[in-house]
Amino acid sequence: MNKSYHTVVIGGGCLGAACAFSVQRRLGNKGGKVAIVEKKVLGAGLSSRHSAIVRSANASPMAARMAKMATQYWKNLRPLWGVSIPYEQPGAIWIAENAGGSGGENWAELERLLQGEGIDFAMISHRDVMAMSRQALKTSPDEIYYHEPDVLQLDSPQILNAMQTAAKKNRIDVLEHCTVIDFEVSGQGICALHTSQGRFFAEHVINAAGAWSAELFAGLGLQIPVALEPVYAANFLVSADDIPDGMPIIADYVNQAYFRRWRGSILHMHQPRSRKPKDIARSFSRTAMNPEGTNVIYDALSFNVSHQQLDNYLGRVIDRFPAIGKPVYAGGYHSFFDITPDLKFILGSDSRFNNLYHCLGAGQALKYAPIFGEIIADLITEGRISSNSVDIEEFSVARFSGNDLTRYWCNDALKQNGL
Ligand SMILES: Cc1cc2nc3c(=O)[nH]c(=O)nc-3n(C[C@H](O)[C@H](O)[C@H](O)COP(=O)(O)OP(=O)(O)OC[C@H]3O[C@@H](n4cnc5c(N)ncnc54)[C@H](O)[C@@H]3O)c2cc1C
Repeated sequence: MNKSYHTVVIGGGCLGAACAFSVQRRLGNKGGKVAIVEKKVLGAGLSSRHSAIVRSANASPMAARMAKMATQYWKNLRPLWGVSIPYEQPGAIWIAENAGGSGGENWAELERLLQGEGIDFAMISHRDVMAMSRQALKTSPDEIYYHEPDVLQLDSPQILNAMQTAAKKNRIDVLEHCTVIDFEVSGQGICALHTSQGRFFAEHVINAAGAWSAELFAGLGLQIPVALEPVYAANFLVSADDIPDGMPIIADYVNQAYFRRWRGSILHMHQPRSRKPKDIARSFSRTAMNPEGTNVIYDALSFNVSHQQLDNYLGRVIDRFPAIGKPVYAGGYHSFFDITPDLKFILGSDSRFNNLYHCLGAGQALKYAPIFGEIIADLITEGRISSNSVDIEEFSVARFSGNDLTRYWCNDALKQNGL
């Protein structure tokens, strides 16, 4: 079956959906239809296994600026997607080592940078932390604390549900259980996609295939370095006497753990992306050796958490929340961060094919989804980004071409704070 579209989006995760909604809204009644081609179902990839936190703190000023803009979009999503998503604003407490030297300086520099972007991110005292957590958290003189009050907490199932509703409202052609297998090239552009449901012609193609991108575009000679970093997500049952409802999200870089109270009775936790050059190098080597590619995401075995991993997490909960006693385990799963070599996202036009656009999140896609959708829609419908304050050069896929990727994880900048 042959079909023709104005834009075909490959991948129905949060980024693919956001791009489709923004492009279709711009096309309005002018004609031109947008399709999402998704090999499983909408949101079945990594977009079903995240913590739904929207925060702005980021070591790149431009990424921080864009996250701040995205936060506003999430709060008022209806004009963009045609649906709104409920959110809470618990804020976040960042915990770092008080190294007395480089560690502390990095965080002070981050505070200056974020405040320069108008982002509320400031050092707070041990006493503030105790008050905000109603004495649930353990603090130490060896630690420093920062507060980001504007951090939002969304709910993953509500996001997936909103994506489905918005796809219908925006009259997107959602082709599920449909795999893009190959591309047909004409001149400098991609003219058609070969899929498991036939040949689709497209004026514009958006790559939102996330962790599958490297494999998918290798046949076109494009190098899109995305690898998987495994991570465990665990839930523990808690009482309001142990951890108060409404406690800020805890980004604990001493214990390498994010904690948040979720749906009243759950303490949800997982590790952040590793900034260790060796870990990034290992993630990339693993992908190259994995014959199943990133389909490991869909493997049912990946939903199990071993006793060893659990013990490791229990130790971190007990260390940070001593009053809790031995936490009650309430389930967990294995997930993956879709990382790039420099941990920055890949956004914007392809450097070889003039109708191909990349929209990949580098392990932090959800928070950026609405703004990435708008930027890609700007590029496709206007040929330029409409906001003068946004420059995406730093995130271009071209930064990887012809490069020895190992230089990224040998870069000292990565060894700085974990954002
Ligand atoms: C434990 C954990 C917690 C996280 N928490 C947060 C958080 O709080 N905030 C945040 O911003 N980010 C968070 N992230 C990161 C976030 O989950 C991901 O970056 C994001 O979900 C990626 O979205 P995506 O749309 O790019 O990719 P995906 O959701 O993976 O979508 C890609 C889609 O492409 C489809 N596809 C692939 N190949 C093909 C093909 N050939 N044909 C058709 N379809 C194809 C796949 O089936 C998939 O559905 C977290 C990640 C983890 C692991």
